[in-house]
Amino acid sequence: MKDVNFSYEFFPPGNLIGERRFWRSLGCIETMNPAFFSITYGALGTDQERSINTIENVVQETDVPIAAHLTFEGSTRKEINRVARRLAKAGVDKIVALRGDARADADAAAQRGPCYQSVAEFIAGLVEIYPFDISVACYPEVHPKALSVGADILELKGKCDAGANRAISQFFFDVDQFERFRDNATAAGINVPIVAGILPIRDFHKMTVFAERCGTKVPQRLYDLFEPAKRNPQLAAQIAQDEVESFIDRLISRDCSDFHIYTLNQPIELRQCAMSRQRSLAAPIAVSA
Ligand SMILES: Cc1cc2nc3c(=O)[nH]c(=O)nc-3n(C[C@H](O)[C@H](O)[C@H](O)COP(=O)(O)OP(=O)(O)OC[C@H]3O[C@@H](n4cnc5c(N)ncnc54)[C@H](O)[C@@H]3O)c2cc1C
Repeated sequence: MKDVNFSYEFFPPGNLIGERRFWRSLGCIETMNPAFFSITYGALGTDQERSINTIENVVQETDVPIAAHLTFEGSTRKEINRVARRLAKAGVDKIVALRGDARADADAAAQRGPCYQSVAEFIAGLVEIYPFDISVACYPEVHPKALSVGADILELKGKCDAGANRAISQFFFDVDQFERFRDNATAAGINVPIVAGILPIRDFHKMTVFAERCGTKVPQRLYDLFEPAKRNPQLAAQIAQDEVESFIDRLISRDCSDFHIYTLNQPIELRQCAMSRQRSLAAPIAVSA
């Protein structure tokens, strides 16, 4: 059987309570032999400087490899290159290279100096700074702004040709769709690992709002499943737990071996499924929120 690898995504905490939860979750997940932790950059309007500070602190505190997300939208080449240099100096050797969502300050950046125009260009700039291990984003259900399915795959191919080592997917709930996307990517000559992005459902309603923004379809089956748990958080947590475990197992049965868990800074418990077969993990530790 293939090794199964898990990486875990966190966002920089915004206040003291968030800070405590962040470090507690990181500490719990650290014991599960993660492939790497990743820290988002300016996602959902969070402060980019806070991301950099968080990454610099985490690098000091853990032996788990850290991947820093970096987005070039709203920055000049010089500005984002400076951030990349600062991260390399801090000991970060993995970058999740991203465009980032369209920003109101994109024009202002263009006035200040030349900007990267594509992720492929960005990767070329990054590897000139340091031989980073590069991950990029991909979209099994197509990026909402992509001109077509084909254009989306071509963009991904460009990112891989520029030197990306893996593509981490947007979260999704349709295993067949993920498999079709992977087949299309392979047919287009993309041969880096496609890592399945997994969102454990912490709050069903919030998840549906987020899914709508990301272009992720939420199957009716999930609405039906969570309906009886609308006013019962304990039941909702149990359903979510069963769901994420069986989802990962279904993906493993389709030959998927790399998973990126969107933790939302919460501890994650994956008792029954693939986690228990994770590479070199003798005794899996179950952690509850
Ligand atoms: C694993 C993962 C991690 C992420 N982390 C962060 C993060 O830390 N911080 C953050 O801010 N965001 C993050 N995002 C969101 C990401 O920045 C957005 O999805 C962004 O819109 C596209 O970034 P990209 O790197 O995929 O860009 P691209 O590869 O350039 O875009 C993906 C596809 O969308 C199309 N596209 C994108 N924008 C446009 C446009 N304006 N016009 C036409 N087509 C367009 C491209 O042509 C391509 O087909 C993450 C997403 C994923 C999947």
